This record gives sequence, structure tokens and C-alpha cells, in this order.
Amino acid sequence: MSKHYDLLAIGGGSGGLSAAERAAMHGKKAAVVEMAKMGGTCVNVGCVPKKIMWNAAAVAHVLRDAQGYGFDVMVNDFDWGALVKSREEMIQGINDWYGNYLKDSNIDWLKGQAKFVDAHTLEVNGEHYTADHIVISPGGRPMVPEIPGAGHGITSDGFFALTEQPKRVAVVGAGYIAVELAGLLNALGSDVDLLLRRQHFLSSFDAMLRETLMEEMVNDGVNILPNINLEKVEKGPDGKLTLTAQGGHIMQGFDTLIWAIGREPLTADLNLAAAGVETDERGYIPTDEFQETGVEGVYAVGDVTGRAQLTPVAIAAARRLGDRLFNNQPERHLVYENIPTVMFSHPPIGTVGLTEGEAREQHGDAVKVYQTRFTPMYNALTPHKTNTAMKLVCVGAQEKVVGIHMIGHGVDEMLQGFAVALRMGATKKDLDDTVAIHPTSSEELVTMR
Ligand code: FAD
Ligand code: NDP
Repeated sequence: MSKHYDLLAIGGGSGGLSAAERAAMHGKKAAVVEMAKMGGTCVNVGCVPKKIMWNAAAVAHVLRDAQGYGFDVMVNDFDWGALVKSREEMIQGINDWYGNYLKDSNIDWLKGQAKFVDAHTLEVNGEHYTADHIVISPGGRPMVPEIPGAGHGITSDGFFALTEQPKRVAVVGAGYIAVELAGLLNALGSDVDLLLRRQHFLSSFDAMLRETLMEEMVNDGVNILPNINLEKVEKGPDGKLTLTAQGGHIMQGFDTLIWAIGREPLTADLNLAAAGVETDERGYIPTDEFQETGVEGVYAVGDVTGRAQLTPVAIAAARRLGDRLFNNQPERHLVYENIPTVMFSHPPIGTVGLTEGEAREQHGDAVKVYQTRFTPMYNALTPHKTNTAMKLVCVGAQEKVVGIHMIGHGVDEMLQGFAVALRMGATKKDLDDTVAIHPTSSEELVTMR
């Protein structure tokens, strides 16, 4: 006989875990089906290991800058292997914690791959499990282009498996992962080429952010090559990779090639047809504002929906769904607007709301922009300088703030509070009326003229 649950979640990542957790919190019996490690992409091959590597890169920059503050620092070695070992031990600790947490929360972990039998039944390891509610949250996986020799490259998953530091690396891509990995590898001492298929990276970001980051990365030593469309990859007898791009442009001598060209949803093996759940042409599951798939009792949250592929978004959507289903909050749902996001580049980017371009498209001449650019005080004494740039996008006579865009030291920690203000409808005057904190970079946001 099959076992019955109030809620079954497919995937033990940010979305699935949060859905099961919220159901259990409201006294329901829930299970998570996870075929790999608990915690999903974010914990195992995403945000968490990435942030550790970003922290290591920030330490490298502080060591570089220390001389300016009077320190005579000699760095003898950087042990990539030791860093990776400590990082993976930390992640194992999180995995172990999850196991215990699920037991304590009375949530079952069904270890294996889930497939639909019908809209209320999943098959896992040949067993059938039924539920009133099924949440689909299988996330995605990195894509690799279909060109000869592409398999000589790795993806972000392979990057996190590297136990030795790559010396000469080509990173292909123009999104979050390409920019973050290129930046941290460069800071840790690898020789990095970043290959863009177009002129720019981060196409959906405000132009000021893109342009400033590009200057900073070049100034830091990343070799950025625009308009490169690779046609083939070859591996020589010495193990080195040769990349050939359209137009016959040849680049040689790489020991590692990283594809960071986007991710695709893991929906192909779910047997969604058995449940009547449809996907779009790229395999994503469209949902309405309540995460409903169109099949009663079947929902989708997280990266698989193709919207704002960020951990806090998956968590927020799942928690709101749980509150709606099990805590009598019939209108509770996530509004996919004004989602703050940070790019862990060097220096980092923090951004929320409309870009200047989007605001001008929507509001025309009613848009007023305030911006500033400066060298932060931290860099006054360091030989290597960085820039900080900030932009407020305001609309209408009240100058309602509809976009905040920043790049520079510390903006990653600065954004969260300002995102609250923007969400609450703050105007430029509200920012101006807020007393500044001195001396900081964030005070510029409340003193812009
Ligand atoms: P996932 O976390 O991918 O979880 C899905 C789980 O489902 C996986 O564990 C998978 O094994 C399992 N699964 C799939 N199919 C099945 C099946 N049929 N049966 C059983 N189990 C299945 N976001 C941020 O907010 N900040 C960051 O700094 C950040 N950095 C990132 C860095 C990298 C390199 C990457 C790749 C992503 C990063 N993200 C970041 C994005 C973030 O990781 C995702 O948005 C988030 O993990 C999505 O959660 P999810 O639950 O939708 O999917
Ligand atoms: P993104 O969707 O951010 O970017 C993929 C990029 O790859 C696009 O910009 C595109 O460039 C480029 N591209 C696509 N195909 C090719 C190709 N064939 N050759 C060269 N370039 C190509 O994907 P990522 O993989 O970087 O990240 C996936 C998602 O994970 C992100 O969107 C984000 O939501 C999340 N993430 C979040 C992070 C954070 O919060 N800090 C960090 C890392 C990931 P073009 O613009 O030229 O079309």
C-alpha cells in the first residue's frame, strides 16, 4: 500500500525544503524527495561554496592592500586544496545538520528520484507515495554548448570539484556565474580570460553597473574578450586546451575551460505528462501568482519556474505557498517585483528595482536620476584603487525611488535595508531626511544631489 502525505516536495533544495518545512510547521505530514545531497544547488554547488571562494578572494585583496596600511606582509603560499577541503567539510556539516533537522521536524526524506504516476502520486525507487499537494522544485543544471570538444570544459559544478588551482582559465559566459567565477579566480591568482559572445556582460543590469564592473575587472587583471563565439575546443597531448572562435580566432594554452552560459530546468525525467503538467519550450514550468501549475494540487517553486533564479525567491515562494495551503491565508503569495540581488563580483554589485533604461521606457520624462562615483576612503591609502558608483532612479513629482544600483566595497551588505525602503515606497526626500552615518560609503545614498 502506498504511503500518504499532506505534502510531497520534489527536490531537497531551497524551494522543496521550505515547502515541506512550512507544511510541517503548520502540523501537516510532509516528505521531501531528494536524489542527491540535501540542500540542493545553493548549499552544495552554488551560493555557499561560491561565497566561501569569494571570501577567500576578498582576503587576497586585503593582503594586497595591507602594505598601504603599513603592514610588511609576505604571503608564502595559497593552498587551494586546503581551502577546498575546509569548505567541503563545512558543507558536509550543513548536509548532516539537514538530516537531523528533518527528523526533528517530522519530515521524511525519500532518497531517490521522483517521477509522477498521476497528479497525486509519485514513484520513488519503485515505491508509490501519494499526497494531497505536490510541490515541484527540482531546480536545474548548468548547460554546455553543442560544439565539438565542449566536453573538455567544466561547469560551475566542476569548478567546485577542483582540488587544484587552475593556472590559466577561460570562462565563457556573461551572467552571474561567469562574472563571479572569473573575478574570484583572478583574485586568487589564476590567469583568467573572460569570453563574452557579445560586447557586454550582465545585459539585464543597469548600464552603470556593467560599465563600472568591466573597468574594475580589467583594472584587476581579468582579460575580457568581447564578441567571441566559440566553434570548437581541442585538447593537446600536453593536456592544454585550444579554443577556436568564429572568424578563425584561436586562443591557446588553457588548462581549464569553464562554461557559464546559463542553466536548464530538470524537468525532462519527471514524467510530467502523467500529471498533466505542462512546460514551456525551454522545459520550465509556468505558474500563476499562487505557484499553481494549472493541475489541481500540483505547484512549482524555485528555479524550475524560470523566474528570478535566486535562493531567497525559492524560499519565499515556498513559504508563502505553505501559509496559503495550511494556515488559512488564501491570498498569500510572492510578488516577483523589487527583488534585491547581489553579484559577488570584485567589487560587488547590489541592485534592486528598475534600471534607468527600464524606468525611462515605462515613465519617460518623469524619471530623475541621481548618481555618484568616488574612490572609497579604504582605498585612499592602498596602491590599488577601486571605484564605487551609485545610482538612484526616481519617478514623478514625489521622486519615488524605483531603482537603487550600486557597485563598490560593502554594497553587498548595504542593499538589504535600502531594499526595504524601496519596497515601502520611499521617496528621495525620505532618503534625504535620513541622517547619514559617517564616514561610510552608504551615507552617499542619503546625501546625493
Ligand atoms: P535546487 O536548489 O537546485 O534544488 C533542487 C533539488 O532537486 C536538487 O538537490 C536536485 O538533486 C533535486 N532533484 C531534481 N530532480 C529530482 C527528482 N526527479 N527527484 C528527486 N530529487 C530531484 N542564489 C542566490 O540567491 N545567491 C547566490 O549567491 C547564488 N549563487 C549561486 C552560485 C551558483 C554557482 C549557482 C549554480 C547558483 C547560485 N544561486 C544563488 C542560485 C540558487 O542556487 C538557486 O536559485 C536555488 O538553489 C534554487 O533552489 P531550487 O529549490 O529551485 O533548486
Ligand atoms: P545567466 O542566465 O545569469 O547568464 C547566462 C549568460 O550566458 C547569458 O548572459 C548569456 O549571454 C550567456 N550565454 C548563453 N549562451 C551562451 C553561449 N552559447 N556562449 C556564450 N555565452 C552564452 O546564467 P548563469 O549560469 O550565470 O546563472 C544562472 C542563474 O543562477 C542566474 O541567472 C542567477 O539567477 C543565479 N545565480 C545567482 C547568483 C547570485 O545571486 N549572486 C550567483 C550565481 C548564479 P548574453 O547576455 O550575451 O546572451
